[in-house]
Amino acid sequence: MTNGTSRGTSDPGGSRRAPRGGSSRGRDNLTREILINDGDLESRVAILEDGRLAEILIEREARIVGNIYKAKIVNVVPGMDASFVDIGLPKNAFLALGDITSEEADAGRPRRTDKIADLVKKGQEVLVQIVRAPLGAKGARVSTRISLPGRFLVLALGDGGYVGVSRKIDTEEERQRLRKLGEELAPEGMGLIVRTEAEGQSVRELRKDLDFLMELHKRTLKKEQEVKAPALIHEDLPLISKVVRDVFNRQAKELVVDSRAAYETIMELLSVAGRQLRTKVRLYEEKMPLFAARGIEEEIDKLLRRRVGLVSGGHIAIDHAEGFVAIDVNTGRYTGGAGLAETILRTNLEAASEIARQLRLRDLGGIIVMDFIDMDKPKHRTQVMDAFLAALKSDRARTKVHHRISPLGLVEMTRKRTAESLRGTLCEACPYCGGSGAIRSPLTMALTIERDLLRQAAEDGGDVFLVRCHPQVSSVLVGFDGEHAEKIEKAIRKPLYIRSNPTMHLEQYEITALGAAQLKHEVTLLKQGQEVIGRLVGEPKVGAPAMFAVEGYHIGVKGEPPTGEREVRVRMEAVGHSYGEAVPVGQQPAGPPAGRKEAPPAGRKEAPPAGRKEAPPAGRKEAPPAGRKEAPPAGRKEAPPAGRKEAPPAGRKEAPPAEATKKPSRRRGRRGGRRHRKKPAAPPSAE
Ligand SMILES: [Zn+2]
Repeated sequence: MTNGTSRGTSDPGGSRRAPRGGSSRGRDNLTREILINDGDLESRVAILEDGRLAEILIEREARIVGNIYKAKIVNVVPGMDASFVDIGLPKNAFLALGDITSEEADAGRPRRTDKIADLVKKGQEVLVQIVRAPLGAKGARVSTRISLPGRFLVLALGDGGYVGVSRKIDTEEERQRLRKLGEELAPEGMGLIVRTEAEGQSVRELRKDLDFLMELHKRTLKKEQEVKAPALIHEDLPLISKVVRDVFNRQAKELVVDSRAAYETIMELLSVAGRQLRTKVRLYEEKMPLFAARGIEEEIDKLLRRRVGLVSGGHIAIDHAEGFVAIDVNTGRYTGGAGLAETILRTNLEAASEIARQLRLRDLGGIIVMDFIDMDKPKHRTQVMDAFLAALKSDRARTKVHHRISPLGLVEMTRKRTAESLRGTLCEACPYCGGSGAIRSPLTMALTIERDLLRQAAEDGGDVFLVRCHPQVSSVLVGFDGEHAEKIEKAIRKPLYIRSNPTMHLEQYEITALGAAQLKHEVTLLKQGQEVIGRLVGEPKVGAPAMFAVEGYHIGVKGEPPTGEREVRVRMEAVGHSYGEAVPVGQQPAGPPAGRKEAPPAGRKEAPPAGRKEAPPAGRKEAPPAGRKEAPPAGRKEAPPAGRKEAPPAGRKEAPPAEATKKPSRRRGRRGGRRHRKKPAAPPSAE
């Protein structure tokens, strides 16, 4: 990528590393608002530019690391070369010999001959910093080697004369420049570490950062003298201090924060970094959570979606491939009017600025490949490219764009980010598809079940087979007018009972071989002439008859079932094993709306929410097993799936929704189908 440039400058020769101008960079004539939601488990920052969300920062790490305490030595253990110190936390912290700076030693590091008992004494008060958070029964690990991180530099107290440069800065020339600057700047008796962020920064910027750190150090020492051990001296809030340092400047209109503790920290940081900004900080104390009140929650939600709509009606789609992110631009419907080329140009221009915005919001990193809609005119291609580069200017991350749009309309770029992407922070791989983004289709599942049935029927099995699966799968299995179920029945030469269960996962199914006598305890068997309420299975499709079900039993409703009704009262006309036919009843000749009134709402109220879609309130009265009525919906959830095999038949009435809803991760393991085989010998209940 020899003709790539940084920061979106349009100089085709391109300096590989254009200087990063700190806060002066970007379109700073826009108004900026900063909203901070400070919580126990995470802190979130929303940056708004001209009222529009531009950046989201999230911090979820253990926040205790980096905190500085005034501690008291409670125990010295020479055998362990370690001591235990009280820092005010429930567990005493661990301070090892190697983590103690000694004044006599070079660069503050203990000599090999040092003994722990020579360095610390019981009851002594020391300043320590947490280097590892407490874990389980273990207390925190602390060090007396204290460092204060700034934007470009880390001030290492006591590490006199030591200057280090971040390994992530990879050009030797720049490393040497920074090392030299570090050596010039390092205060007497202290060390300096030059951070990755310092790359390309002027001595003026580094000095400003150092001044800030020295002021912070002064305050730390002052506080140490004022308080008694154990006490917290300095709390490290990386995200909040980063925002105050890097984003909150004179251009910012306001900073709103929703916790008092964070508010006070910010005010303290500003007393060092910029007093005049303090009037712009506001503590938010309304009842409605800040991010909800400002519509940020909704925005974050959208940032996890694949598609982003454009005003013109087109959209962009963001896909995460193994080694890169692919962003595809799609047109809306072409409505005529302006020429096609103009419509494409407009969509691409819109997409260009939206992509730049999404890169920042989602914090996408690495290689990014964009696929704009093909443009015939070179002039249009240049226009889109220029618009994209201009939009990239407000991005604080380093970007490098490969200039020319490829013949296929592709634009390649890289974007360097320091943190995890928003998606990486908030999401994990989907347990249903294992991150592949796809699960087996209902047809694939139906075919899988069919093959499994054939195999099991060939092996052994009971008198009848019962299949339970997701309604979308059972609809395929049962087939139009129940024809497919009949075919399978012929093939396995055993009666087959297919029942849908909407609480099951699409890839989950259950095949049970049963003794004939057990069947009625497993499923509700309807009778001819019986009146029941059928509920719509899934969404009715154009060109296909609506499928209804009664307790998972599929029925086809003949005649004209009221359109748009999700349930219909019917009389069973024909009853097969997996499929029955019914006619609507109870309808006034006046028309469909009347039928609705007729539908008995009374029974409905009692229907347990879990089973709702298919629980037939009306049918229930007629349903043979009396035991069912008493089965409390709550009890069903607790029924352990394992126990089902042994459970008395009456308890098994319904597939356990608990397993399906409560532990989704388990479902994957069942992909191959879980079988319950009831031995025919199992005690059939008296009949
Ligand atoms: Zn998935």
